[in-house]
Amino acid sequence: MKMIRVLLPFVASLLVACDANEPQEVHPVASLLLINADVVTVDTARPHAEAVAIKDDLILDVGTSEEMLKHRGEHTEVIDLQGQMVVPGFIEGHGHYTSFGGSLLILDFRYARSFAEIVSMIAEAVADTPAGEWIVGRGWHQDKWETKESVLVEGLPVHDSLSEVTPDHPVMLIHTSGHGVFVNQRAMTLVELDGNTEPPDGGEIVRDANGRATGMMREAAQDIFRIAYSGHQGRRPAGVAEEELRRMVTLAGEESLRHGITSFQDLGTTFAEVDLLKTMAEEGNLPVRLYMAFEEQAADMAGRLDDYRMIGYGNNFLTVRSIGEKVLDGALGTHGGWLLEPYSDMPQSHGLNVVPVAEIEASAELAMKHDYQMAIQGIGDRAYRELLDIYTAEFAKHPDKTDLRWRIEHAQVIHPDDVSRTVELGVIPAVQGIFACSDGPWVKERLGEERTRERGYIFNTLAEAGLVPTNGTDPPVDEISPIGSFHCSVTRQLPDGTLFQPQEVYSRDRALYSYTMGNAIAAFEENIKGSITPGKLADITVLSQNLLSVPDDALLDTEVVMTIVDGRIRYRDGEIVR
Ligand SMILES: [Zn+2]
Repeated sequence: MKMIRVLLPFVASLLVACDANEPQEVHPVASLLLINADVVTVDTARPHAEAVAIKDDLILDVGTSEEMLKHRGEHTEVIDLQGQMVVPGFIEGHGHYTSFGGSLLILDFRYARSFAEIVSMIAEAVADTPAGEWIVGRGWHQDKWETKESVLVEGLPVHDSLSEVTPDHPVMLIHTSGHGVFVNQRAMTLVELDGNTEPPDGGEIVRDANGRATGMMREAAQDIFRIAYSGHQGRRPAGVAEEELRRMVTLAGEESLRHGITSFQDLGTTFAEVDLLKTMAEEGNLPVRLYMAFEEQAADMAGRLDDYRMIGYGNNFLTVRSIGEKVLDGALGTHGGWLLEPYSDMPQSHGLNVVPVAEIEASAELAMKHDYQMAIQGIGDRAYRELLDIYTAEFAKHPDKTDLRWRIEHAQVIHPDDVSRTVELGVIPAVQGIFACSDGPWVKERLGEERTRERGYIFNTLAEAGLVPTNGTDPPVDEISPIGSFHCSVTRQLPDGTLFQPQEVYSRDRALYSYTMGNAIAAFEENIKGSITPGKLADITVLSQNLLSVPDDALLDTEVVMTIVDGRIRYRDGEIVR
């Protein structure tokens, strides 16, 4: 009896609304309860529920509202969601975290309807930018322009009108794909590029009939400008650069939270960047959880990978265990994707091999040795096949290593013969649903009807073959928008209402799985993320309506109501919660 008396006050503090007639059991107290919700758990053990109990950073329990209210304590926050949908926090499966943050700082040309409009935006920026400073913008795509310039070379404008308004500022306009830049005369003068300059391997300087550079630099030809720009930025005082990087990390995280994203997989970081992210993880200043892949030269990585490998650092906010996205090829939009057969609309070209195969092989050997995942870009069917060959050879050398989950990023064009090979190797094609809709309007020009049907964006074919369905929007290449990518994944509906490869739609369930469990599996995180399951991290997104049941044409109206990371509400009703 004495024992019970001692225990009773303690137990009582853990219990709420316990029926006196029922045998008393101890219910751990939740910090946060979401009740009266439409919970889709993505956990086959209990696919649907009404309420979720969260205790600190973990999911405590899932069930009916009545059951979950048993976890209510004196300090428990209880939120009645009135039927709104609760899903596991979205995981962005492929993006570029700090450049996404950076893109929120620079000019945005995604909505520009002509080159002339871009030139006038630049002219405005000139007024606020000291002479000699770079003006950088991104997101342009020539196929989005409604009016074309009078002089075009390979479908692209020439730099004269741009150079005229920017005599004292180097200008670099990054193509929406990231696989090309358009520069002005000042930038070309700065890097000493003229009529005699040879393009680097894997790059192309577009020239007019007289041999004059038009300003368009494809693939490796853009590097010299990016280096000049980052060199200029790097010469600023150290504190300025670090402050800017911190700002990018925060901006990218907050924009992720607004879109219901709780984890972000970054394909292309550096050692220096990871140093800062590690500090920010220690400070508790990362807004979302990050999964990072190095984009460094094999020779530079060799001695450092062990020191930098970290899993779940800073309370599961930072994981570094991947090598990517060394791009084996370029983008389809810029005719850079490396194809088995030539482009239909540029028959002299198979696209470009950007990083030499030997460099990828060296990275693969390092990945195997230091227990890293490979996550390399293969957009065209030739690039995809080369990567399968490299992975096959590397796996054969190390038969003792299993469950490697090496990835091929984008996987937009795949020869049918390579699907079963992918399954046998246990390789994950890390695809982005939204690309089917953003590229859909011009893919058939690049590949022709038949090749498009057979090989283009065959995402559901891959999933049906048993491969892990994945998703993402590659921010800042495409808009960060799980809802937009979900919509495209399940409809394949282009902006003009036509359908692109509609036989390749995901089911609604599969689309949700791809953004949660699928992406978690692609990062070895299925035991801590991807479903609303007791014991997993409390990363949860609340949506205004049910993504699985609203009609197709209402999907894009879905709003993110709340984003919970690590058991904390970080975004609610349009506001970031700090
Ligand atoms: Zn990317």
